[in-house]
Amino acid sequence: MAHPSIVILTGAGISAESGLGTFRDEGGLWAQHRIEDVATPEGFARNPQLVVDFYNARRAQAAEATPNAAHAALARLQTEHPGDVMLVTQNVDDLHEKAGSPNVVHMHGALNSALCGACDHRWPAPLQMAVGDVCPACAQPRARPDIVWFGEIPYHMDAIERALSQADIFAAIGTSGNVYPAAGFVQLAAHVGALTVEMNLDPSETVALFEDTRPGKASETVPAWVDSILAN
Ligand code: NAD
Ligand code: ZN
Repeated sequence: MAHPSIVILTGAGISAESGLGTFRDEGGLWAQHRIEDVATPEGFARNPQLVVDFYNARRAQAAEATPNAAHAALARLQTEHPGDVMLVTQNVDDLHEKAGSPNVVHMHGALNSALCGACDHRWPAPLQMAVGDVCPACAQPRARPDIVWFGEIPYHMDAIERALSQADIFAAIGTSGNVYPAAGFVQLAAHVGALTVEMNLDPSETVALFEDTRPGKASETVPAWVDSILAN
């Protein structure tokens, strides 16, 4: 295949070596909070201060973090591969952008974006958001982090499914395969005959659905995989 179309899905594991904890990490931000409290619309309605503080802490942490060799390798693939490469991330950090990735599809939103709960307007989030921040478009005090919470619909699903339906290669990197719809992408890709590759530290929940599995740290497995694609 001369110029295969590639779809890549990344998760928290790709940012682990940059110091941003995964959801399972003991002692990390997630370990100190219940998902229902900080990652659902109901949690935000109950205690907006707790939720805004939680994402302020994550935003501050992400602002200090630097991309690792895995992010850099994917940016190289996106700029050097002559075929289509769609990079989809479940991560809300901006390490792919910092590594130079030209296009990143943030299906679960982004820490550096604010969203108006009244009119859906988006704007760049300040480093520290406050409860009741005013929307620059409609002037309502309804700002919230632009994060897709449990029970909300992920962003850009039409574009992602279109790319998956035309993919020759699908790679999942640093994701546990627990959270749908992202965990189902491998099945969509396999259905159209794409080669499926998993690069994860531990086997994910969906490892059996992948043809090629490359266990290990993303900073090692991803650059090697990118080299193999660009060499073809
Ligand atoms: P995750 O924390 O569930 O899984 C991370 C995966 O990365 C693990 O399978 C781990 O083995 C792997 N990993 C760790 N270090 C690695 C390394 N150096 N190299 C390669 N792999 C490594 O994260 P996820 O899959 O991105 O979670 C999906 C979505 O779930 C998130 O975007 C978030 O919206 C949501 N979420 C999940 C939880 C949860 O408990 N799973 C909690 C809150 C939110
Ligand atoms: Zn508004």
